[in-house]
Amino acid sequence: MWFDQHVHMEHGPYTPLEYPHEWLEQFLEVGHSRQITGLGIVEHGYRFTESRGLLPGEWSLRRCLYPLRGYTEFLDQIRGRYPIAVGLEMDYVPAQEVGIRDYLKRYSWDFVLGSIHFIDEFGLDVSETKDEYNRRDPEEIWSTYYRYSIQAAESGLFNVLTHPDLPKIYGSPKPPDSMLVPWYHRFIEALADNHVALEINTAGLRRPVREIYPHPRLLQEAARVHLPVTLASDAHEPENVGRFFDQARKLAMECGIDKVTAFGANGVVTMWLR
Ligand SMILES: [Zn+2]
Ligand SMILES: [Zn+2]
Repeated sequence: MWFDQHVHMEHGPYTPLEYPHEWLEQFLEVGHSRQITGLGIVEHGYRFTESRGLLPGEWSLRRCLYPLRGYTEFLDQIRGRYPIAVGLEMDYVPAQEVGIRDYLKRYSWDFVLGSIHFIDEFGLDVSETKDEYNRRDPEEIWSTYYRYSIQAAESGLFNVLTHPDLPKIYGSPKPPDSMLVPWYHRFIEALADNHVALEINTAGLRRPVREIYPHPRLLQEAARVHLPVTLASDAHEPENVGRFFDQARKLAMECGIDKVTAFGANGVVTMWLR
Protein backbone atom coordinates (compact mmCIF):
# COMPACT_ATOMS: atom_id res chain seq x y z
CA MET A 1 0.00 0.00 0.00
CA TRP A 2 2.89 2.39 0.77
CA PHE A 3 6.40 2.70 -0.61
CA ASP A 4 9.47 3.40 1.54
CA GLN A 5 11.73 5.27 -0.87
CA HIS A 6 14.88 5.39 1.27
CA VAL A 7 16.29 2.18 2.80
CA HIS A 8 19.96 1.35 3.41
CA MET A 9 21.25 -2.16 3.92
CA GLU A 10 24.75 -1.20 4.95
CA HIS A 11 24.57 -2.10 8.66
CA GLY A 12 23.91 -5.78 8.07
CA PRO A 13 26.01 -8.85 8.76
CA TYR A 14 27.52 -8.72 5.33
CA THR A 15 30.02 -6.91 3.21
CA PRO A 16 28.95 -4.85 0.21
CA LEU A 17 30.46 -7.56 -1.95
CA GLU A 18 28.07 -10.20 -0.61
CA TYR A 19 24.69 -8.65 0.20
CA PRO A 20 22.84 -11.78 1.29
CA HIS A 21 19.26 -11.95 0.21
CA GLU A 22 18.10 -12.98 3.71
CA TRP A 23 19.05 -9.53 4.99
CA LEU A 24 16.96 -7.86 2.29
CA GLU A 25 14.08 -10.19 3.10
CA GLN A 26 14.10 -9.03 6.73
CA PHE A 27 13.57 -5.45 5.54
CA LEU A 28 10.69 -6.56 3.33
CA GLU A 29 9.10 -8.56 6.14
CA VAL A 30 9.09 -5.63 8.59
CA GLY A 31 7.81 -3.39 5.81
CA HIS A 32 5.00 -5.80 5.08
CA SER A 33 3.87 -5.66 8.73
CA ARG A 34 3.54 -1.87 8.30
CA GLN A 35 1.70 -1.99 4.96
CA ILE A 36 4.84 -1.18 3.02
CA THR A 37 4.62 -3.04 -0.25
CA GLY A 38 7.78 -1.71 -1.89
CA LEU A 39 11.22 -0.44 -0.95
CA GLY A 40 13.65 1.94 -2.58
CA ILE A 41 17.06 0.41 -1.88
CA VAL A 42 19.89 2.91 -1.72
CA GLU A 43 23.47 2.80 -0.64
CA HIS A 44 25.49 5.90 0.13
CA GLY A 45 27.48 6.95 -2.91
CA TYR A 46 30.51 7.70 -0.74
CA ARG A 47 31.00 4.03 0.12
CA PHE A 48 32.42 3.20 -3.28
CA THR A 49 35.96 3.69 -4.54
CA GLU A 50 34.70 5.42 -7.68
CA SER A 51 33.47 8.33 -5.54
CA ARG A 52 36.98 9.09 -4.28
CA GLY A 53 37.70 12.79 -4.61
CA LEU A 54 34.06 13.74 -5.14
CA LEU A 55 33.30 14.35 -1.48
CA PRO A 56 35.09 16.65 0.92
CA GLY A 57 37.20 15.68 3.88
CA GLU A 58 38.89 12.78 5.59
CA TRP A 59 35.66 11.27 6.86
CA SER A 60 34.42 10.54 3.33
CA LEU A 61 37.83 9.44 2.10
CA ARG A 62 38.02 6.79 4.82
CA ARG A 63 34.74 5.30 3.58
CA CYS A 64 35.32 4.93 -0.18
CA LEU A 65 36.23 1.29 0.29
CA TYR A 66 34.28 -0.92 -2.06
CA PRO A 67 34.06 -1.20 -5.83
CA LEU A 68 30.69 0.02 -7.08
CA ARG A 69 30.45 -3.16 -9.14
CA GLY A 70 29.82 -5.26 -5.99
CA TYR A 71 26.71 -3.22 -5.31
CA THR A 72 25.45 -3.05 -8.88
CA GLU A 73 25.90 -6.81 -9.39
CA PHE A 74 23.78 -7.37 -6.29
CA LEU A 75 21.17 -4.98 -7.66
CA ASP A 76 21.11 -6.89 -10.94
CA GLN A 77 20.43 -10.10 -9.01
CA ILE A 78 17.52 -8.71 -6.99
CA ARG A 79 15.88 -6.60 -9.70
CA GLY A 80 12.58 -8.12 -10.68
CA ARG A 81 12.72 -10.73 -7.90
CA TYR A 82 11.59 -8.45 -5.07
CA PRO A 83 9.18 -5.49 -4.85
CA ILE A 84 11.94 -2.92 -4.86
CA ALA A 85 13.42 -0.10 -6.86
CA VAL A 86 17.19 0.25 -6.96
CA GLY A 87 18.92 3.53 -6.37
CA LEU A 88 21.72 5.46 -4.80
CA GLU A 89 21.87 8.24 -2.22
CA MET A 90 24.46 10.64 -3.56
CA ASP A 91 25.81 13.81 -2.05
CA TYR A 92 25.65 17.02 -3.97
CA VAL A 93 28.89 18.98 -3.81
CA PRO A 94 28.71 22.08 -6.02
CA ALA A 95 32.39 22.04 -7.02
CA GLN A 96 32.17 18.38 -8.05
CA GLU A 97 29.03 18.47 -10.16
CA VAL A 98 30.74 17.22 -13.33
CA GLY A 99 32.40 14.31 -11.52
CA ILE A 100 29.15 13.40 -9.73
CA ARG A 101 27.30 13.38 -13.05
CA ASP A 102 29.84 10.95 -14.50
CA TYR A 103 29.73 8.81 -11.38
CA LEU A 104 25.94 8.49 -11.54
CA LYS A 105 26.13 7.40 -15.17
CA ARG A 106 27.88 4.20 -14.15
CA TYR A 107 24.61 2.35 -13.61
CA SER A 108 21.05 2.54 -14.77
CA TRP A 109 19.40 3.49 -11.46
CA ASP A 110 15.63 3.41 -11.03
CA PHE A 111 16.00 6.61 -9.00
CA VAL A 112 18.68 8.76 -7.39
CA LEU A 113 18.34 10.55 -4.06
CA GLY A 114 20.27 13.79 -3.69
CA SER A 115 21.60 14.81 -0.28
CA ILE A 116 23.42 17.70 1.27
CA HIS A 117 25.38 16.10 4.09
CA PHE A 118 28.42 18.40 3.88
CA ILE A 119 29.23 22.08 3.98
CA ASP A 120 32.91 22.00 3.06
CA GLU A 121 34.35 19.44 5.50
CA PHE A 122 31.58 19.93 8.06
CA GLY A 123 29.42 16.81 8.03
CA LEU A 124 25.98 18.00 9.13
CA ASP A 125 25.03 14.59 10.54
CA VAL A 126 28.54 13.35 11.34
CA SER A 127 29.16 13.05 15.08
CA GLU A 128 32.89 13.78 14.62
CA THR A 129 32.13 17.31 13.39
CA LYS A 130 29.14 17.98 15.62
CA ASP A 131 30.98 20.79 17.49
CA GLU A 132 30.92 22.86 14.30
CA TYR A 133 27.33 23.70 15.18
CA ASN A 134 28.71 25.64 18.16
CA ARG A 135 31.50 27.26 16.19
CA ARG A 136 29.62 28.46 13.14
CA ASP A 137 26.96 31.10 12.67
CA PRO A 138 23.58 29.31 12.33
CA GLU A 139 22.50 31.70 9.59
CA GLU A 140 25.61 30.84 7.63
CA ILE A 141 25.01 27.08 8.04
CA TRP A 142 21.38 27.24 6.95
CA SER A 143 21.80 29.69 4.10
CA THR A 144 24.67 27.63 2.67
CA TYR A 145 22.60 24.46 3.11
CA TYR A 146 19.71 25.87 1.08
CA ARG A 147 22.00 27.47 -1.49
CA TYR A 148 23.49 24.02 -2.14
CA SER A 149 20.03 22.41 -2.06
CA ILE A 150 18.77 24.81 -4.74
CA GLN A 151 21.83 24.06 -6.88
CA ALA A 152 21.22 20.33 -6.37
CA ALA A 153 17.62 20.76 -7.58
CA GLU A 154 18.83 22.70 -10.62
CA SER A 155 21.56 20.18 -11.45
CA GLY A 156 19.10 17.69 -12.95
CA LEU A 157 20.97 14.85 -11.22
CA PHE A 158 18.34 13.76 -8.72
CA ASN A 159 14.75 12.53 -8.55
CA VAL A 160 14.28 13.40 -4.89
CA LEU A 161 16.06 15.64 -2.38
CA THR A 162 16.36 13.99 1.01
CA HIS A 163 15.93 15.04 4.66
CA PRO A 164 15.34 18.64 3.52
CA ASP A 165 16.20 20.44 6.75
CA LEU A 166 19.02 18.25 8.01
CA PRO A 167 20.89 21.01 9.94
CA LYS A 168 18.24 20.74 12.66
CA ILE A 169 19.42 17.19 13.49
CA TYR A 170 20.85 17.99 16.94
CA GLY A 171 18.26 20.60 17.75
CA SER A 172 21.07 23.18 17.61
CA PRO A 173 20.34 26.90 17.51
CA LYS A 174 18.29 27.64 14.44
CA PRO A 175 17.99 31.00 12.69
CA PRO A 176 14.64 32.78 13.11
CA ASP A 177 11.74 31.91 10.81
CA SER A 178 12.06 35.35 9.23
CA MET A 179 15.38 34.18 7.79
CA LEU A 180 14.39 30.57 7.01
CA VAL A 181 10.98 30.97 5.40
CA PRO A 182 12.28 32.84 2.32
CA TRP A 183 14.83 30.04 1.85
CA TYR A 184 12.08 27.40 2.15
CA HIS A 185 10.17 29.28 -0.52
CA ARG A 186 13.10 29.51 -2.93
CA PHE A 187 14.04 25.88 -2.35
CA ILE A 188 10.52 24.60 -3.08
CA GLU A 189 10.30 26.78 -6.19
CA ALA A 190 13.58 25.28 -7.42
CA LEU A 191 12.29 21.74 -6.84
CA ALA A 192 9.04 22.50 -8.67
CA ASP A 193 10.79 24.22 -11.60
CA ASN A 194 13.11 21.25 -12.04
CA HIS A 195 10.62 18.43 -11.41
CA VAL A 196 12.38 17.13 -8.32
CA ALA A 197 10.42 15.57 -5.46
CA LEU A 198 10.68 16.42 -1.77
CA GLU A 199 11.25 13.71 0.81
CA ILE A 200 9.33 13.32 4.06
CA ASN A 201 11.89 11.49 6.17
CA THR A 202 10.96 9.98 9.53
CA ALA A 203 14.58 9.38 10.60
CA GLY A 204 14.51 12.76 12.34
CA LEU A 205 12.26 11.14 14.96
CA ARG A 206 15.17 8.84 15.80
CA ARG A 207 17.66 11.73 16.08
CA PRO A 208 18.13 14.22 18.95
CA VAL A 209 15.79 16.74 17.31
CA ARG A 210 12.90 14.21 17.48
CA GLU A 211 11.13 15.77 14.51
CA ILE A 212 10.25 14.56 11.04
CA TYR A 213 12.25 16.16 8.22
CA PRO A 214 11.18 18.63 6.92
CA HIS A 215 9.51 21.36 8.97
CA PRO A 216 5.73 21.77 8.37
CA ARG A 217 6.33 25.17 6.77
CA LEU A 218 8.28 23.46 4.00
CA LEU A 219 5.51 20.93 3.50
CA GLN A 220 2.93 23.71 3.32
CA GLU A 221 5.02 25.37 0.59
CA ALA A 222 5.24 22.00 -1.20
CA ALA A 223 1.45 21.58 -1.01
CA ARG A 224 0.95 25.06 -2.44
CA VAL A 225 2.79 24.15 -5.67
CA HIS A 226 1.58 20.50 -5.75
CA LEU A 227 5.13 19.22 -5.45
CA PRO A 228 5.54 15.42 -5.48
CA VAL A 229 6.59 14.12 -2.07
CA THR A 230 7.95 10.70 -1.11
CA LEU A 231 7.79 8.79 2.18
CA ALA A 232 11.13 7.66 3.58
CA SER A 233 12.33 5.97 6.75
CA ASP A 234 16.07 6.17 5.98
CA ALA A 235 16.19 2.76 7.70
CA HIS A 236 19.61 1.22 8.16
CA GLU A 237 18.18 -1.78 10.04
CA PRO A 238 15.05 -3.82 9.27
CA GLU A 239 13.15 -2.60 12.36
CA ASN A 240 13.06 0.95 11.02
CA VAL A 241 11.44 0.24 7.64
CA GLY A 242 8.23 2.24 7.36
CA ARG A 243 8.57 3.32 10.98
CA PHE A 244 6.50 6.37 11.95
CA PHE A 245 4.87 6.51 8.50
CA ASP A 246 1.48 7.02 10.14
CA GLN A 247 2.85 10.23 11.69
CA ALA A 248 4.41 11.25 8.37
CA ARG A 249 1.12 10.83 6.51
CA LYS A 250 -0.79 12.69 9.19
CA LEU A 251 1.68 15.58 9.07
CA ALA A 252 1.54 15.66 5.28
CA MET A 253 -2.26 15.87 5.30
CA GLU A 254 -2.26 18.56 7.99
CA CYS A 255 0.02 20.58 5.71
CA GLY A 256 -2.35 20.23 2.75
CA ILE A 257 -0.63 17.40 0.88
CA ASP A 258 -3.12 14.92 -0.56
CA LYS A 259 -0.91 12.31 -2.23
CA VAL A 260 2.54 10.75 -2.12
CA THR A 261 4.73 9.65 -4.98
CA ALA A 262 6.93 6.58 -5.37
CA PHE A 263 9.79 6.09 -7.80
CA GLY A 264 9.35 2.39 -8.47
CA ALA A 265 11.02 -0.11 -10.76
CA ASN A 266 8.34 0.49 -13.40
CA GLY A 267 8.11 4.24 -13.12
CA VAL A 268 6.39 6.79 -10.95
CA VAL A 269 3.32 5.80 -8.92
CA THR A 270 0.97 8.07 -6.98
CA MET A 271 -0.85 7.07 -3.78
CA TRP A 272 -3.68 9.14 -2.34
CA LEU A 273 -3.55 9.96 1.33
CA ARG A 274 -7.32 10.24 1.81
ZN1 LIG B 1 21.28 11.04 4.11
ZN1 LIG C 1 20.04 7.83 3.84
